[in-house]
Order: sequence, then C-alpha cells, then structure tokens
Amino acid sequence: MLTALVSMWLGGSLMAAAQPAAAEEPLQAVATIGMIGQVADQLGGECVDVTTLMGPGVDPHLYRASARDVTTFQKGDVILYAGYSLEGQLGDVLKHLSATRPTVAVSEDGIEKERLIHVDGGTYSIDPHLWMDVGLWSQTVPVIASTLSEARPDCADGIANNADVYLEQMTALDEWIRGSIATIPESQRILVTAHDAFNYYGRAYGIEVAGIQGVSTETETGVADIRAMTDVVVERGVPAIFIESTINPRTVQAVIDAAERRGQAVSIGGQLYSDAMGEDGTVDGTYLGMLYSNTRHIVEALDGELLPLPEVLNDWVVRWQIDG
Ligand code: ZN
Repeated sequence: MLTALVSMWLGGSLMAAAQPAAAEEPLQAVATIGMIGQVADQLGGECVDVTTLMGPGVDPHLYRASARDVTTFQKGDVILYAGYSLEGQLGDVLKHLSATRPTVAVSEDGIEKERLIHVDGGTYSIDPHLWMDVGLWSQTVPVIASTLSEARPDCADGIANNADVYLEQMTALDEWIRGSIATIPESQRILVTAHDAFNYYGRAYGIEVAGIQGVSTETETGVADIRAMTDVVVERGVPAIFIESTINPRTVQAVIDAAERRGQAVSIGGQLYSDAMGEDGTVDGTYLGMLYSNTRHIVEALDGELLPLPEVLNDWVVRWQIDG
C-alpha cells in the first residue's frame, strides 16, 4: 500500500510543489497528530489553516497512510510531524513530501536531546511521547513558529505574539500539574496505564509510571505482562488504574480481574488521553485540556486534591467553562 502511494507521488503530477499561498489566503498546514496541530493552530491564528491527519482515538503507532491522506498531504504548504519514529508507518511518505515543501519533525528539531528518554528494543530507541511533559512540548513552539513565519513572513509578528501567550499558558499548566500531583499520598503516587506513554509525565510531575504494554502498541500483550503488572498493583495496594482513549481496555480489565482474585480491589481511574486528544470542540480536544483532563483523573482517583487553576489560564477556563 505504502509503496503504491509513494509511486503515485513519484509518477504523477502530485510531485509538483504546492503553490505558495497568496498573501490573503491562509497558509495550509498539515499536522500528523493533534498535539502538533494544536500548537500550529494556536500560533497561526487567522493566518494558518491546520488539518490534522490523525483524529481523536487514533493510535499513531499503528497508523498507515490511506489514499485520502495523499490528498490531505497534497493540500499542505507545510507539513509538521513529530519524528523519532512515532509516525513509523508514514516514514517514506514524509520523506517524499520533504522534497517538495517544508516538512518538519518538530520533536526532533525542537526538543533538547539531553531530555529525551531512551528505550530499549522494538521500533523505538527514543520514547516519542514527548507531549506528556508540557515543559518539554513547549520546546516545539519556536520551531513551529519559525516554520509558519518563514512560509508567511507577513504573519510573523502575530505568530510571535501568539507564541508568547501560549508559552505562558503552557508554563502555568505545567506548574499546576506538578503541584496537583504532589498532593497525592506518596504511597499511591503510581500511574498504571495500558501502555508506556507516560514516562515523560512521570518524570516531569513526580509520579511513578508503569505500562502494561511497552512504549509501542505494536506488540501483543502477553499473560506474563498481565501477571507482572498484577504483582505491582497488589504489592503496592494501587487503588486505581487507567484506560487510554486509543487502546482497547481489555488488558487493563485483565489486571483488575487478576488483582481482584488476589483480594485487591482496583477501580478504573478514568480514561486518559495518551496518543491522541479528545473530541474536537471539547476542552479535551485541546492540548492544554488533554493534560488537564489526564491530571484531573489521576489526582482524583489516587486521592489527591486539584490545585486552583492559575490566573494565566483564565481565558481558557472561561472559554471551556471549566469549573475546577
Ligand atoms: Zn503511545
């Protein structure tokens, strides 16, 4: 399938570069995942139309390009993707796009190498779930801002202003998450999820993390994985574990059932957003809302207490009618 798509590009008129947008027309930006599309949207304002390839509930580890995606990419004046093999199945497609338009790996280009988490084996050598640490993800803002500004120099001032505002909001949310997680009783400060998407979250915000499945979702979860996680849950007396919006909750339920057979009651602490944001038009469908919602579920299920949201986020709180 992929080979066929690539040869479509190579063979046909699709190889032609996208025409630069006229000054009055919004720049067309195509982002692979919502967490990137959201930053581009916040920065670009009226100057940029953002299309996101993978919507709510879509698992980027398993995502394969469809014929429709060819058309979507084709519309893009600039392409923004994460890199570090997150969009592993799109590698060839992205490589070919890069010949005809700015195609930028925002995680690879923006984020400090010293702060990457290295993992062993499988598809990944770098854990790609960088958006889980708001402070780290904010390092993609300058690279996205400069990509958009280079394509639309007339919008550069507005993009710079929007970047300042968004960075301030991200910093405030980052501090709020850290403070809220710290209210969870220390023995319960452990986050058990379906797959290993929360290493950066755990490191940034001071909570131990354990995924039933590894960093990628490509391999099957085995009996041994379920048993190992049940041991942790029972030994630590973990009160709640979490399902993820992009992953079948079957393995989480298997751990809960196994723990129950060993006399440990465990509840589902809610659904976390790991690799995709929530529905468009809801607060969970924003990047800040994704992290807010996750933190809220984690803190409430593990007997912590949410701090009041910082004033810098007031506009966002009003916009989404958040009652926290
Ligand atoms: Zn993942």
